Amino acid sequence: MSELGPEGCQPVLLGVIGWPVGHSLSPVMHNAAFRAEGMDCHYVAFAVPPADLAAALAGIRALGIHGVNVTIPHKEAVIPLLDEVAPSARQMGAVNTIANREGRLVGYNTDGWGFISSLEEAGVKPAGMRAVVLGAGGAARAVAVHLALSGVSRLTISNRTAERAERLAALVRDLVPGTEAEAVASGSEEEAAVLAEADLVVNCTPLGMHPDGVDLTPLPRIDLLPPGAVVYDTVYRPRETRLLREARQRGLRTISGVGMLVHQGACAWEYWFGRRGPVSVMAEAARRALEAME
Ligand code: NAP
Repeated sequence: MSELGPEGCQPVLLGVIGWPVGHSLSPVMHNAAFRAEGMDCHYVAFAVPPADLAAALAGIRALGIHGVNVTIPHKEAVIPLLDEVAPSARQMGAVNTIANREGRLVGYNTDGWGFISSLEEAGVKPAGMRAVVLGAGGAARAVAVHLALSGVSRLTISNRTAERAERLAALVRDLVPGTEAEAVASGSEEEAAVLAEADLVVNCTPLGMHPDGVDLTPLPRIDLLPPGAVVYDTVYRPRETRLLREARQRGLRTISGVGMLVHQGACAWEYWFGRRGPVSVMAEAARRALEAME
């Protein structure tokens, strides 16, 4: 299949499957990129309830949909339904990108790449940093493993459910031998001690996500962070989350997760088209869409 479709005459269909999926920025981002590149491709949001996930994958094969992104709540559930899963996605236990290779559905995970690319774009080099990851779900797994691969000097996973943090720290030590990875419980004295020495904090919980009414959940103790620390929020709606606002008001460097969203989408192009998506076009489309939503 060429980029313009089979025999250059059929448009190519791609999309995102999630539940709910109506507020996904991916269609706006990818369609802007296709227009900018002059490609006859169309990206659609498919609302797929969990009970219909297997049928949706059969539909992707039957209809010849070229590729899809996978979002909450399907990133883990989709794995046993695929024909092949890239080793890194299997290790992370989550797939966010599927490529349809002549009827064989192959799963990948570009969230970690997206995160590291967005950090680098912001001029932050994680090598040698003492990093704290808040959360132990799918996003935290991708972020933690890629921080370890990037050579952080110490990695602490802090989570509400301490056992999940322990499991993620063990996974990181297993996948990236030599990494000093430990787990602490959210709000504990141990968490306070690592925050006081941290260079980088990455929120991978939905804390502060829009729309959630008045969110009174206490924020992590970023008041303990040393000056010069960087606070990254994977949540990107609103663009300035409560955590980022508080960090900025304390004079800390802040980075929004919209860059992670853009770069994970641009990386997905590698699996669909064999080249990276146009990052600046995608970033501008995401920025405008977010602005319109606020
Ligand atoms: P997930 O697998 O459901 O994990 C959620 C994590 O957040 C768990 O560790 C959970 O703790 C914790 N958590 C949930 N509610 C909490 C609360 N009220 N207080 C404290 N901790 C809480 O979700 P995910 O897929 O990792 O996604 C997490 C967030 O990452 C999402 O909100 C999304 O906005 C963001 N994300 C962003 C991108 C991007 O491209 N920027 C990509 C993926 C995800 P327990 O283990 O105790 O339940």
